[in-house]
Amino acid sequence: MKRNNFIIVLAIILTTVTSYAQNRKADKGNEKKNQPKNIILLIGDGMGLSQMYAAYTATRDNLNMTRCPNIALVKTFSDNDYITDSAAAGTAIATGHKTNNGMIGMLPDKTKVPSILKYAEDFGLATGLVATSAITHATPASFIACVEGRNMTEEIARQFLITDIDVFIGGGYDNFSKRADGLNLIDSLLSRKYNVARTIPEMMEVNGGKLAALLYPNHAPKFSEGRGDMLSLSTAKAIDLLSMDENGFFLMVEGSQIDWGGHDNDLNYVVNETIDFDKACGIALEFAERNKETLVIITADHETGGLSLPVKELVSGSPVGKFSTGDHSAIPVPLYARGPGSDQFFGLIDNTDIFKTMYHLFGFDVLDKGLKR
Ligand code: MG
Ligand code: ZN
Repeated sequence: MKRNNFIIVLAIILTTVTSYAQNRKADKGNEKKNQPKNIILLIGDGMGLSQMYAAYTATRDNLNMTRCPNIALVKTFSDNDYITDSAAAGTAIATGHKTNNGMIGMLPDKTKVPSILKYAEDFGLATGLVATSAITHATPASFIACVEGRNMTEEIARQFLITDIDVFIGGGYDNFSKRADGLNLIDSLLSRKYNVARTIPEMMEVNGGKLAALLYPNHAPKFSEGRGDMLSLSTAKAIDLLSMDENGFFLMVEGSQIDWGGHDNDLNYVVNETIDFDKACGIALEFAERNKETLVIITADHETGGLSLPVKELVSGSPVGKFSTGDHSAIPVPLYARGPGSDQFFGLIDNTDIFKTMYHLFGFDVLDKGLKR
C-alpha cells in the first residue's frame, strides 16, 4: 500500500471507531427506553440448533422463533462437567451462577443463591412458571427452589409455598398432595388464596388472582399422546394473569419434553415437542408485539442427543436425524431475542450471562444496591 493510501485508510478506520464509540454512548443515554417492563423467558429443554432446524424443516419454514432479530450462542458447561444437566443449566440461567450437575439454586458448596424470579418478587413484579413436566422438575425448580439434589421433588414443592409466585402451571400434583411427610400442600395453597386448577377448563376459568394449575399427577403426556394445546393455553393464561400487574412481570415457560425425545433418540418426539414449544413462543411474541414493553428470550438449557441432520429433506418436510448420544451434549445452544433490550444478546455468551442481562435490564442491579442478601 502506498503511504498516501495508507493514511486515508487509517483516517477512515479512526472515524469509524470514533463514531462507533459515540453511538455506544448515545445508546447508553437511551438505555431507559431500552428497558423492558416484562420478560418472558422460554426454555426448550434439550433444544439445540439441530432440533430447531428439524422443526423448521418439518413446518417448511413456519417457526415463530425465527421472527427474533437478535441471536446469540450460549455455552452450557456446568461447574463440574463439560456436559451439563438441566439442574445446573437451569440454575445458571436462573441465578447467574454455575453449579454442579444435579444441584438447584445452590453453589457447589451449598450456598443458596436467589433466582431472577425471586428478585422479581422482591421488587414487586408478578412472577410465573409454566412447564410440560412436573412443575417440580429441574428446569422450573431452578427458578424457585434451593436444593442439593434435583430428585428432592417434595421439598421443591414445599418451597413453592415459601415464595409468593403468582402463577404456576404444569404437572406434579402428587408432589403437593401425596407426600411422604403427610403434608397436604393443596390446602396450604388454598389458604394462601391460590385458585387451584386440576384441569385445563378449570384453569381457563380463572380470570384473576393467583393460580396454581397442577394438571397432571406427574408429567404432562407427550404432545403426540394427547397433551393438546396445554402449553399454548397455559402460556396465554399466565400472560393474561401476570400482565394485570402494573409493575411488570417475569415468566418462564419450558418446553420440557424436547429433551426426552432426544434421550429416546426419537426424532418425531423431538420435532412434535419443538413445534409445540414454538407455538408457545408465538403466543409470547404476539403479546410482546402488541405490548411493546416485553422482552422475549427463547433459548435452551443444553442440547440433547447430539443430533445432526445429514440427509437433504427440506422439500419433503420430513427431516431425517442421526443421534450421536442418548445423553446431553456440550455444544452451545442458540438464543433468540426480541423486544426492548434484545440487542444486548449477541455473540458467544455464557448461560450465566442470561441471568446477568435480565437482572440488568430489569434494573435490579440499581435497586439491589444496599440490600443485604
Ligand atoms: Mg427441563
Ligand atoms: Zn435431559
